[in-house]
Amino acid sequence: MHTDLVAALDIGGTKIAGALVDGTGALLVRAQRPTPARESGETVMGAVADVLAELTASPLWGRTTAVGIGSAGPVDASAGTVSPVNVPGWRDFPLVERVRKAVGGLPVELVGDGVAMTAAEHWLGAARGYDNALCLVVSTGVGGGLVLGGKLHPGPSGNAGHIGHISVDLDGDLCPCGSRGCVERIASGPNIARRALQGGWQPGPDGDATAAAVAAAARAGHPVAIASFERAAQALAAGIAATATLVEIDIAVIGGGVAGAGEVLFAPLRRALRSYATLSFVQQLTVAPAVMGTDAGLVGAAAAATSVRPGGTAAAAALSG
Ligand SMILES: [Zn+2]
Repeated sequence: MHTDLVAALDIGGTKIAGALVDGTGALLVRAQRPTPARESGETVMGAVADVLAELTASPLWGRTTAVGIGSAGPVDASAGTVSPVNVPGWRDFPLVERVRKAVGGLPVELVGDGVAMTAAEHWLGAARGYDNALCLVVSTGVGGGLVLGGKLHPGPSGNAGHIGHISVDLDGDLCPCGSRGCVERIASGPNIARRALQGGWQPGPDGDATAAAVAAAARAGHPVAIASFERAAQALAAGIAATATLVEIDIAVIGGGVAGAGEVLFAPLRRALRSYATLSFVQQLTVAPAVMGTDAGLVGAAAAATSVRPGGTAAAAALSG
């Protein structure tokens, strides 16, 4: 019986969540603060410290052997720093060092939030049992992560699998990242909504102009709404097919708010994949919705801490029971 716990932190632009996670993925203790995203870096760190103080005050803290952090990106795992786009006070912020000090020197592992979600889906979710997987988070942005050869593949900086900024339209629209025609520029929620509005779709009386409202219109048969989701699905399919061709994945798991559109997204996505994933070794690729929900970031940060850490194979085995 293994009783070690991992402290997990999930750091995003709106909230900082923490938990003590056991070997079954159960969240035994939780803490949360809003992210003071517009304030100074030290104020943001103060919110992280408050979350950690709640966790360390728990009687269970003594069983905690490591800390895993999943953060909005970009992150630099090799330097231990984070520069989340939506938290301007943090640029190359030495988060790993600060957290390590706050927890008395326990080992601390950092990955991007897309990699954390991937670790969660591989451990306990839709990618469980698959040795080669790409997981995507499609929401305000498009992120992702990879499992290769049965192991999480964060890459040297903790960002590998960031499919949102693969270009699938060589001369396409400029992306905020500086490139053109990125998957995110076509398939993110705001871009689905923008394209529908430009095509003449109009929000209902409630004024809701989000991708969820476009999805509802698509379900009701609105051709412009359907077309906007088809275009997003096409971009995602091209990115997934490219990834599958490069590294041979067996499954693509898709989560995030836009995946909540269900078949409005998944039906054209499966169709488009047949056009782009054509070689024999990628034709069997499965596409599935993510299942881990809002706790994926915390569960994944815990899983990443044990699978990434040097010597972490034994710890990962212990954590997976
Ligand atoms: Zn881009």
